[in-house]
Amino acid sequence: MERTEKRVYLDYAATTPLDEAVFEAMMPYFREDFGNASSQHAFGRRAIAAVDEAREKTATVLGAKSNEIYFTSCGTESDNWAIRGVAKAMRGKGKHIVTTAVEHHAVLHTLRALEEEGYEVTYLPVDACGKVSVEDAVAAMREDTILVSVMLANNEIGTIEPVKEIAHAAKEKGILVHTDAVQAVGLLPLAVDDLSVDLMSLSAHKFYGPKGVGALYVRKGARLGKILTGGAQERTMRGGTYNTAGIVGLGKAIELAEARRTEEVKRLTELRDHFVSRVLSEVEFSKLNGGPDRLANNANIAFRYIEGDALVSALDRAGIAASAGSACASGTLEPSHVLQAIGVSSEYGSVRFSFGKYTTKEAVNFAAEILIKETERLCKTDLFARRPSEKGTV
Ligand code: PLP
Repeated sequence: MERTEKRVYLDYAATTPLDEAVFEAMMPYFREDFGNASSQHAFGRRAIAAVDEAREKTATVLGAKSNEIYFTSCGTESDNWAIRGVAKAMRGKGKHIVTTAVEHHAVLHTLRALEEEGYEVTYLPVDACGKVSVEDAVAAMREDTILVSVMLANNEIGTIEPVKEIAHAAKEKGILVHTDAVQAVGLLPLAVDDLSVDLMSLSAHKFYGPKGVGALYVRKGARLGKILTGGAQERTMRGGTYNTAGIVGLGKAIELAEARRTEEVKRLTELRDHFVSRVLSEVEFSKLNGGPDRLANNANIAFRYIEGDALVSALDRAGIAASAGSACASGTLEPSHVLQAIGVSSEYGSVRFSFGKYTTKEAVNFAAEILIKETERLCKTDLFARRPSEKGTV
């Protein structure tokens, strides 16, 4: 899986391969158990039983009740629903929402759209590690604040946000809290009562489940409007024929991810730290973006005088799959709002390496060697010629 034709996949934060056991669990619902989960007959009953079982599994991992779990089409829909749903249901109380500058676009672009509809949004800044301050978050909460949305962990730099502390403060003020936990499954605890969150977004393809299925946890009593109107599915809250196989896959995948979490976090941390220390010690002018409080699978590295996308292309040609994130506003790449928020200078090109289930020590060493070679090669191009003679100042 990991090393076909010397290919190393280090982009697990973008998506993960489907777990074999998840695939097996899904197969019957494409074949003999194809019924519509809303149908009254035996075919429908088999399908809805599978949906209910997946709901139960998801609820167990979150420490929630199964009727607090709603299935959606992806993490983006879950984020949209949480934000637009609260905005709609709570507009009588106020139109102010608090979030951070480093959320995923599924959150940020939804909030931008709400601003055009008259809502007011406070975007909290982050420190150089990408972390939001609890004090700033509390200070931003007002009488008319209806929602605080802070991600559990950042998708670009892996920074873990102080959601629990912020949510506890919000709860005291009677403000609903949403967290985008899309990157956190299988890497961080998700117990919603401990975190004190009212809404949580998940997406199956980030934890070895299928693409095109997500979930939204909604605490009982939290007021949420509908965004997808249609049939009476999901207790009338979200119309649309059940994606039975996908939902079964999400349920199986979250159960497996949670069961493997402790061991996997330990293994990934070791691999990641080994990779980072090799790269930082062997590549001149490189540094780690983000801080120590980060997801076990994330290493986002900045390389001075190298274009991130040029490096990603060079790595790809050499068999390494990773993602670029540029802080530079020039060129064709959109600048990364996350790298800009943590103040990465445009002199640096950044690459996100994200590790997962099939990443081995051998693969990590192979990737580090290629990376060292490719950065040296790119440094010898004309870009390098622009480098001032200030060796060793980084
Ligand atoms: N939120 C975060 C933090 C993500 O990383 C992603 C996907 O990259 C999403 C939301 C969107 O999830 P999906 O791809 O399921 O729409």
